[in-house]
Amino acid sequence: MLILHQNISMIPRNLIINAALKAGFDIVGVTPAVHIEDENFHFSKWLSAGCNATLSYLERNQEKRFDASKLVDGARSVVVCGVAYLSKFSRGYPTGCNTKIASYALAKDYHVVIKEMLSEVADELKAYAPNLRFRLFTDSAPLAEKSYARRAGLGWIGRNSLLVTPDYGSMLLLGEIVMDEAVDEYDTPMQSVGCGECRRCVDACPNGAIRDDRTIDARRCISCQTIEPMAGKECIPLDGWIFGCDSCQAVCPYNKKAPLCKNSRLNPLFDPLEFDAERWLSMSEEEFTEFASETPMTRAGLARIKENIIS
Ligand code: SF4
Ligand code: SF4
Repeated sequence: MLILHQNISMIPRNLIINAALKAGFDIVGVTPAVHIEDENFHFSKWLSAGCNATLSYLERNQEKRFDASKLVDGARSVVVCGVAYLSKFSRGYPTGCNTKIASYALAKDYHVVIKEMLSEVADELKAYAPNLRFRLFTDSAPLAEKSYARRAGLGWIGRNSLLVTPDYGSMLLLGEIVMDEAVDEYDTPMQSVGCGECRRCVDACPNGAIRDDRTIDARRCISCQTIEPMAGKECIPLDGWIFGCDSCQAVCPYNKKAPLCKNSRLNPLFDPLEFDAERWLSMSEEEFTEFASETPMTRAGLARIKENIIS
């Protein structure tokens, strides 16, 4: 369902959608830049329970995270764009593999790719509205992107806490444009949550990290524990993952039927099955840089990856 506004000075939603699709995004929605109070409340409770583990940056800027109007002066709208990254490595590794890598991390760092794509969208919006003021977000600044994505009608929050979309599942990278112009038609949230009785992600999580309220306990989450700083790291089984974890997404029926990524900017840059534990442990920094320097794996670094293998 769309909310319509009759004002020719507003940016047309169609212009935004077309610009996003042209830039290579698969889905896009637009929602007003309002404060999402109820989700802010639940997030505060999650923090109070210590579920953010060592991710202390999540405790900062709470007043902005759920209120996009505090991120850009006079913000009126949030454009939420998503691009699917599902590859042949996204739906699981061979049994016994002990060097598993989350599939998003095999491609060029999404912070770079999404920023480039959002810039292309913003260029088109600036051409239409030269005085437009905006900021681009790619998981690098405080913005509750899944919450705004849900409000923009892209999907629902799955039991595994991720945004799940009917056509592309959850293996999507999100980017947002917060801007000071209104839009002539806003999207509205989906009326239903598509998980139904399914609990496959909950059952697939090796460490029981998925909580009943559709949040994750980062202290028990491999994705967090293989990447974030070692200080305060919990000693949990890593189930063969050496960077990130896709277990709760690989089993999701929406990811099983989702199409493979068709955006060449997100193609895997190497084949993780060519690297067994022995190969990783004997790898030099030079070799790591040679094939992984553009990937998000540099965030953890080779030493940490080796540590994950032997822990
Ligand atoms: S990413 Fe892995 S460890 Fe974290 S909740 Fe999902 S299945 Fe569990
Ligand atoms: S696996 Fe099932 S419960 Fe989990 S997010 Fe997917 S549909 Fe929802």
